[in-house]
Amino acid sequence: MSFGNDVEELIRKNSLANAVKHGGKCNPQAVLGKVLGAKSSLKENVKEVIQLVNDIAKQVNQMNLEEQEKAISKYNIVEKDVHPQKEEKGLPPLPEADKYNQIVTRFAPNPDSVLHLGSARAIILSHDYARLYNGKFILRFEDTDPRLKKAALPFYQSIKDDLRWLGCTWDEEFIQSDRLSIYYDYARRLIEVGGAYICTCNVDSFKKKLLKKKPCPCRGLSPKEHLARFDKMLNGTYKEGGAVLRIKTDISHPNPAVRDWPALRIVDTKKHPHPRVGSKYHVWPLYNFAAGLDDHLMGMTHIIRGKEHYTNMVRQKYMYDYLGWVYPTAIHYGRLKIEGGVLSKSKIMQGIAKGLYTGFDDPRLATFQALKRRGVLPQAIKQIIYEVGIRPVDATISWATLYSINKKIIDKSSPRYFVVLNPIVLSVWGLEGKKELSLRKHPEFESMGYRKIVLYPADDGCLKVYIKKDDVEKIKDHSIFRLMAFANISNFKILGDHIEGTIHSYEMDVARNVGAPLIHWLPVNNNIKIRLVDQKGQILEGFGEKGLFDESVNAIVQLEREGFARVDSKEDGIVTLYFSSK
Ligand SMILES: [Zn+2]
Repeated sequence: MSFGNDVEELIRKNSLANAVKHGGKCNPQAVLGKVLGAKSSLKENVKEVIQLVNDIAKQVNQMNLEEQEKAISKYNIVEKDVHPQKEEKGLPPLPEADKYNQIVTRFAPNPDSVLHLGSARAIILSHDYARLYNGKFILRFEDTDPRLKKAALPFYQSIKDDLRWLGCTWDEEFIQSDRLSIYYDYARRLIEVGGAYICTCNVDSFKKKLLKKKPCPCRGLSPKEHLARFDKMLNGTYKEGGAVLRIKTDISHPNPAVRDWPALRIVDTKKHPHPRVGSKYHVWPLYNFAAGLDDHLMGMTHIIRGKEHYTNMVRQKYMYDYLGWVYPTAIHYGRLKIEGGVLSKSKIMQGIAKGLYTGFDDPRLATFQALKRRGVLPQAIKQIIYEVGIRPVDATISWATLYSINKKIIDKSSPRYFVVLNPIVLSVWGLEGKKELSLRKHPEFESMGYRKIVLYPADDGCLKVYIKKDDVEKIKDHSIFRLMAFANISNFKILGDHIEGTIHSYEMDVARNVGAPLIHWLPVNNNIKIRLVDQKGQILEGFGEKGLFDESVNAIVQLEREGFARVDSKEDGIVTLYFSSK
C-alpha cells in the first residue's frame, strides 16, 4: 500500500511540528493522532499509516533541532500549531440573553480605594459577556457616600487604569455624584405614588417599631405632606439625621433588612465635603436607591454580582414595582476567596497609612497594581475567572494556582538569564585566553536569539566568577562541579568566603558521568548589578548577565533557578526586578 505525496507531507509537517515543540524529538503516537484527526479517511488503512508515521518520525528525529526548524519553515505553520496552548475555557451562555435586543452590563465600583483581585470576577464577566453578545459595557462610579465610604479623586483614575490593563474597556461612563437631580426627581415620583415616605422619627424608636413589624407615625401621612417634607430636606430645614426618605415595602417582610429601607439621607457636607462636588448637596442617595434607579435608567439587562447582593435585589424590586419597571436579569455568583490574600479594602488602606505597605502596588497585596508589578498577566486572571464562572457556589483560589496559570503564559516568551544572588567569589585557574559563550535565550525557541558571555582571565591567568553562597553546600562533598554551560571545576578549596579551583574539562558528559552538581555563575568583570524585590517586599541583591540591561522595563524574564521576574526599572547601571513566581 502506498499513499500519495500529500499524506507523506501531512505526516512530515506534523512530525516536525511535534519535534520542534518538544525540543527536537517527536512522538509518533502524538503525530498519528494529529494525522488521523486531520484526515479521518486514513483510519481505514491505519496499520500502513502507523508504519509510515514511524518511518518519517525516525527521519525527523535524526535531524537536529535547527534543521527541523529550518524544514518546518517551508510549511507555513502558524505559531499556535507548533506550540498549542491549552484551549481557553469559554463562558457558558448568559441566562435570558434572548429576552433582550442588546445585552447591557456594568461594573459599578465605589472609587474609595484601588481595585483588587476580589473585583476581577464582576469586571471580567460583565465585560466579556457584553463583548460576547455584541452588547454594551458601562462603567459607573458609585460615589454617593461622602461620610463612611468616601471617594477620593485618584481612585477614579486608578480604577480606569486597572480596567484598561485588564483589557476591559467600557462603552459609557457615569458618575453618580453628577446625577443627584435625577435621584431627587424619582424620589418625588415615588412619594407621589405612595411608594416612599419621609420619616422624621428618632432612629432608635423607628428601628424598634420596624423589628416589631409596626409602622411609624410618618408612614401613613399623605403624599402632599411628604412632598413638603422632601422640600425641607432639600432646603436645609432638616439637619443631618433629622429626616430619611424610605421606600415602602412589606412591613412584615421576614427579612427585617428589607422592611422600609432607607433611600435618601442628609449628610453634613460642610463637615464632610464630597471630593468632586464639595458641599453643593447635602441630600445623598444610599446604595440601593441610586444603583437600583441607574440600572434601569442605563438600560441594564444583566447584573452580574456576588450573592451578598441578593437582598438588595429584593429591596429594589419594591421600587421597580412602584415605577412600573421590570428588574434586569440578576446573576448572583458565590464568593471568591483568595487563599492568604489581603482582600479587605480597609486593611489595605490602613496598612498603607501606617507604612506597613509601601503603596498600593506593594508585592504583598492582591491589588491589580501589585499583580501587574509582579508580572502577573491579565490573561492569567481572566483564565481563573473563566474557570470559576458565574456559579453560585463559593470558590477558593490559591496563589499557587494563579502563578501556575501565569507561568504557562509567560514561560514561552521569557528570555533566560543567569543571576547570582548573595554571591561569593570563585577563582578559576586554567582558562587559556578569551572565551565567548553563546547561550540560547530560550531553550525551546531558537528564534528568540542568543546571549553572549565573554570570559577572559586576568594577567595572572586567574578568572574570577561569582557563584551563589548557598551553592557551597552543594559542591563541598564532590570532587567535580560544573559551571553551567562553561566548564567542569576540580581540585577546589573552600577558603571561608572565597573558593579556588581548576578547570578539569569542558564537556557536559564528563560532569554527567560523575554526577557533578550544576552551578550558576557570572564573571566578576562582566556583569551588572541587580536588585530583586521578592513576594514579601524584601530586596535581594546580586549580579546578572549584562544582557538584562537591554531588556525593556515591563519585560518578563526568567532568572535561571530563581524564577520569573518583571523588569521594574533600570537606573545607574542597576536593574531592579520584581519577583513573579518560581
Ligand atoms: Zn417616622
